[in-house]
Amino acid sequence: MEAKPRERTFIMVKPDGVQRGLIGPIITRFENRGFKMVALKLMSPKKDMLLEHYEDLKDRPFFSELVTYMHSGPVVPMVWEGEDVVKISRQMLGATNPADSKPGTIRGDFSIDISRNVIHGSDSVEAADKEISIWFAEQEIVNWRSIDEDWIYE
Ligand code: UDP
Ligand code: MG
Repeated sequence: MEAKPRERTFIMVKPDGVQRGLIGPIITRFENRGFKMVALKLMSPKKDMLLEHYEDLKDRPFFSELVTYMHSGPVVPMVWEGEDVVKISRQMLGATNPADSKPGTIRGDFSIDISRNVIHGSDSVEAADKEISIWFAEQEIVNWRSIDEDWIYE
């Protein structure tokens, strides 16, 4: 059954997260919170996708290392849907630098180094729209109704 889409965000397990077997634990956190997955794939990202994805950071000193890291193995891009999903998922990720990420957050539980922080999440609804369009074709996003929704939302 189709449902009216709620807010969407773009989440990606980075190459270190894939290599370290964290795809499952990360997905579980989003499922447990009550968010709905509407797109998912495993892929080796093309460099031009990464350049577009991180376009805003191109003048930062760490940019070329960031692109090399993100290009070093497969990633798992995803789209998750739910009320306030952009803000809540940023909280679930924790601070960019794992040294500042609280225990209980994904980065705070699974990482140490800012340049190996296992997961990406959009920082605004506008960024989410842009990132979703970089990583997914419209037909790869599935509009479906979860039976949980009547119990997750009033
Ligand atoms: N990054 C890094 N060194 C830094 C800052 C950022 O390697 O000093 C990397 C890190 O992987 C981070 C990504 O660049 O997740 C994007 O940076 P941003 O500031 O957008 O952080 P995020 O939105 O991922 O928390
Ligand atoms: Mg960012």
